[in-house]
Amino acid sequence: MVTLNEDYLKLPGSYLFSTIAKKVAAYQAEHKDADIIRLGIGDVTQPLPQAVIEALHKAVDEQGSAETFRGYAPDLGYSFLREAMAENDYRQRGCDIADDEIFISDGAKSDSANIQEIFGADCRIAVCDPVYPVYVDTNVMAGRAGDYDKDTETWSRVIYMPCVAENGFVPELPGETPDIIYLCYPNNPTGGAITKEQLQRFVDYANKNGAVIIYDAAYEAYISDPAVPHSIYECDGARTCAIELRSFSKNAGFTGLRLGATVIPRDLKAKTMKGETELHSLWARRHGTKYNGAPYIVQRAGEACYSEEGKKQIREIIDRYMKNAAYLLNGLKEAGYEVYGGVHSPYVWLKTPGNMTSWEFFDMLLDKAQVVGTPGSGFGPHGEHYFRLTAFGSYENSVRAIERIKAMKAVR
Ligand SMILES: *Cc1c(COP(=O)(O)O)cnc(C)c1O
Repeated sequence: MVTLNEDYLKLPGSYLFSTIAKKVAAYQAEHKDADIIRLGIGDVTQPLPQAVIEALHKAVDEQGSAETFRGYAPDLGYSFLREAMAENDYRQRGCDIADDEIFISDGAKSDSANIQEIFGADCRIAVCDPVYPVYVDTNVMAGRAGDYDKDTETWSRVIYMPCVAENGFVPELPGETPDIIYLCYPNNPTGGAITKEQLQRFVDYANKNGAVIIYDAAYEAYISDPAVPHSIYECDGARTCAIELRSFSKNAGFTGLRLGATVIPRDLKAKTMKGETELHSLWARRHGTKYNGAPYIVQRAGEACYSEEGKKQIREIIDRYMKNAAYLLNGLKEAGYEVYGGVHSPYVWLKTPGNMTSWEFFDMLLDKAQVVGTPGSGFGPHGEHYFRLTAFGSYENSVRAIERIKAMKAVR
């Protein structure tokens, strides 16, 4: 009889968002008239920028005529998009990245999941705790994580780097030496940012120890301070130790359209049995074998994000979310909460009051304020006693949520 990949069977169930949905549904069933405000969502709500819509229409029409029709896209991406990204995201920021070091994909989730494939089976990974679950789960599927301990909610071969208020949500260098280090800044879920000096320490550490950093820059567009790097390649020496993931989801609203990119500099090498090999050529081989390219119309839409109009419209969308974030952040502070994030990120990360667990706070917020957020413990053990609210709702709902949370404080 056929057998299954036992590594997949090791994965504990992913109950976070299904448990939230169940609890909200149960509450709604008991309180038919409750007007629930959902600030748990990690998805954008604003429509696509007009420049993107126009580019999509134009590209769709091109697909309808034999002269301009395009079939399979080049596996690694159309040069018009690779060039636009290299120029705008990198060279204009002083980062030395060539067009052909950018691999276009359907998003940062799949790239962050797939990238581990090109590394050795016994490589050890280090992740922040709390963390975006994809990094760990995909290494579990690949058999790289060891065994799961239900009590500590950790994997035996994964190195955890706690991110808590005490270290400003930027981890210390790992205690044990990893081969692969996952970093995401600005961070989901904590909303924390990393300074260039702090990131430089990780780059120096990786170069010294022969490790690779996988840097998830999905939220770079939310950065509002010049001391905070938009790319890891702003650090010296990053070309020999870092892979960067980019997404069009959280800046330009492509969560449903799907577009992203992975950057692998040609200077990045790894040890093989015969010596050293470029990661660039291995990822190109992997991409060419397993992927047939992001859709032409979507890549044209991505290109439009770099036009003057596109940039301006994206800025307006981000500003709109950041106005919500500022409102949530200040409102929670006024209500007496200890709050973090929300400055370079659409996520506000609060410490639960009175040492409540993340789930106790979830239940109280739903029951007393009819506001839904995300329990921090769902992102890892060091997320316990924290709680995430997102700025992706409407301004009106952000204001109403704060009113209710302030009122709740009085009854607590
Ligand atoms: C939303 C998000 C992404 C983006 O994923 P896409 O597949 O590009 O939509 C990547 N990383 C993190 C941490 C995210 O929160």
